[in-house]
Order: sequence, then C-alpha cells, then structure tokens
Amino acid sequence: MNDAADLIAKCLSCRHPMWDSEIQAGRYACYRCEDKASEQLHAIRGMFKRLNTADGHEKVRGGASGPTGSKEPPVPVRLAVLNATGPGGVVAQLQSGIEDSWRRALGWQMGRTRHHADIDGATTFLINNLPWACERYDEIADDLRTIASIHGRLTGLETGEPAAKKFTAYCKTTDCHGELQITLWTSHATCATCGTEYGKTELAGLMTQYDQAAA
Ligand SMILES: [Zn+2]
Ligand SMILES: [Zn+2]
Repeated sequence: MNDAADLIAKCLSCRHPMWDSEIQAGRYACYRCEDKASEQLHAIRGMFKRLNTADGHEKVRGGASGPTGSKEPPVPVRLAVLNATGPGGVVAQLQSGIEDSWRRALGWQMGRTRHHADIDGATTFLINNLPWACERYDEIADDLRTIASIHGRLTGLETGEPAAKKFTAYCKTTDCHGELQITLWTSHATCATCGTEYGKTELAGLMTQYDQAAA
C-alpha cells in the first residue's frame, strides 16, 4: 500500500477533505468530527444521568404512548432504558467497545471494569483522550460511529420516541449497500444483501439514519 497520503487526506469519519493543518498533524479524523464527538459524549453523560433515576424511568414511561393508545406503560421503552443504564448498557459499551482498545493502542494498563452507572468515569476517559484518538488512532471512525449511535439511542429514549420504532442501519461490509431495519433492542440481524450477521454489540456500531441526519 503506497496510498497512505490519499488515506489521510480525508477524514476517516466524515470523509471530508482535511485542512492543511490537519494533514500536517497527520490526523485520522478532522477537528469538526472531534468536536461533535466531544459534544455527544457530554450529552450522553447528561442524558444517562437523567434517565438513570426513578423520575427518568417514570418520565419515559409516561412520555411515550403505548401501542394503539392504550394506558398500559410501554414496557419495551422501560426495558430499553434499563438496558441502556443497567449492566451491559452504555457504560459497558463505552468501556469494552472503545476505552479498552484505546488503552491497548496507547500501551496502557487495562482499567478495572466500571460499575454500570459510572457514566462520569466512562465519558471522562473518552473526552480526555479523544484528541489523541482523532489524531493518532486509525480505527477512530468506528468509535465515532459508536458514540453517535449511543447518543442517538439515548436521545430517542429521552424524547420519548417509541423504542419499538424501526429505523434503518447500514451494513458496514465494504461495497455492500444493504440496509437493516432494526429497533432499539434488536439483538440479532442479518444483512439481506450480503448475509453478514450482526449481534447486539455490532449493531450498536453500525451507522444509522440518525447518524446521517446528525452528520
Ligand atoms: Zn471529519
Ligand atoms: Zn451487507
């Protein structure tokens, strides 16, 4: 591969051409993407804390209308909030999905597994090391997508958007333009175009229609 210059001339995340200063710094992701991810991480911290309270659970329960306008609490929405704030939720996704890889790339010791409510610790680590990752970490694009996807998911929960609503995620197989219709708690899906199977963790890392709208 001798096209390294081509590869770094565009932001790996938004694919926009880099500014001269960004090229000279040898960055993988542009400043704009770095700023956006930093804002999203701050927002994730705030939304997580609001959702992770009895009030938050009540608000979500009352905020979204149940199926066919019934008075029943929309159980799936509550489950989605518990999913996001509980064990294996957002904190675990940020730590095992992003922080651990950054620590490996930096040659740092692995951190102790964070408590599932330690959103301060999880987001602070990422916010502090985001400038390094955007400049020096060549797999940053996947991580920025994961951050955007978690941000979209929490925004949907907080605004009471029914979690059952299907949305489009884009297959990440190279040259496959397949689309997957999933909900917030889809745990497994297969791309109908190329046959790639995605588990819950991989689904969370896919670019979605919300990421595109936010781009
Ligand atoms: Zn960019
Ligand atoms: Zn595909």
